[in-house]
Amino acid sequence: MSHCTPDLLAGQQAELTAIRRDIHRHPETAFEEERTSQIVAEKLQSWGIEVHRGLATTGVVGTLKGKRPGQKAIGLRADMDALHLQEKNEFEYASSIPNKMHACGHDGHTTMLLGAARHLAAAPDFAGTVHFIFQPAEEGLGGARVMIEEGLFERFNCDTVYGMHNMPGFPRGHFAIRSGPMLAASDSWEVTFKGTGGHGAMPYRGTDPTFVAGQFIVALQGIIGRNVPPTQASVLSVGHIAAGTAGSPNVIPSEVLVRGTARSFTPEVRDLLERRMGEVATGIAQAGGCAADYKYLRRYPPLINAAEQTTVAVEAAALTVGRDKVEPNTPPVTGAEDFAFMLEKKPGAYIMIGNGGPDEGGCHNVHSPLYDFSDAILTTGAAYWVNLVRLELGDA
Ligand SMILES: [Zn+2]
Ligand SMILES: [Zn+2]
Repeated sequence: MSHCTPDLLAGQQAELTAIRRDIHRHPETAFEEERTSQIVAEKLQSWGIEVHRGLATTGVVGTLKGKRPGQKAIGLRADMDALHLQEKNEFEYASSIPNKMHACGHDGHTTMLLGAARHLAAAPDFAGTVHFIFQPAEEGLGGARVMIEEGLFERFNCDTVYGMHNMPGFPRGHFAIRSGPMLAASDSWEVTFKGTGGHGAMPYRGTDPTFVAGQFIVALQGIIGRNVPPTQASVLSVGHIAAGTAGSPNVIPSEVLVRGTARSFTPEVRDLLERRMGEVATGIAQAGGCAADYKYLRRYPPLINAAEQTTVAVEAAALTVGRDKVEPNTPPVTGAEDFAFMLEKKPGAYIMIGNGGPDEGGCHNVHSPLYDFSDAILTTGAAYWVNLVRLELGDA
């Protein structure tokens, strides 16, 4: 079987760079990716790929059948959305829209998948069907979940699904993946502690929810240290506290709101965090004569790579850049990704592609106002997708 390399796609470099920079200059946030999805749809159509639009408002699915007969179908997914962030880069293709920026490289992800679609459409030497899935709203609003709810996999049957994300700080064009849990579940929670409050000089005449909230914040780390098995990673962080008024430091407030994030890698630990936080909040509140209103909001599930498809992804990456540039057992990352919703429905694998290390100028982290996707890896990512299709749909 012939395999694809970045060099083989070098003829696409200029066009892909132009597409990527155009999208970068015109960032669009969750469910508003009108211009971006228009570009995607037009490009796919111009290469003879069947295009379906409208899933999750701005989602685009391109369907390409191989020239050899085959029943198998696979889904390749890229995200299209930008972030609410003011870009601080000063290059000519920097964001033209205030407070919106492609700071997570989704401009690059979209372009890499377009590059693969173009190459495969020109030479559909595979058996079966590829669905190129361009999703909106990866950042926080779960566009992948919405596409699934609106019938993505009923309308476009996929036996397996694959995703890819760039990784700053990791050598350009190298790949990293692991079988099993790779990214964390990302959930939100909040507790409102309610007491009587009162005069700051006479706390004994009431109940003090700030005293209770303080103990709760410390006790959270006891859940991590004493309840979660030490071989399992998890995180509880407080991100927001609100109580009282700045002008009244001598008043004990009657309510304290504490909000934060919870990260875990398995359904079991996720359940444990949800249950124990509620128990600890209620117990400490009770001891302090207060009440606790507790809410736990499940946002993104853990991203779990299937063993078989992880092996296919490793092989595809090795064919693309050589086995020495592929890390098949990278540690899990406590970030989250809504591709996890697709992996709950279909077996598949999600891989990281290096965006450049410190000496390659590509190490500003994602979500930094100085981040940029490296155009040097556009053909690498596209070649990976092509190899993946050929491996998955090599024979009828
Ligand atoms: Zn992001
Ligand atoms: Zn991202």
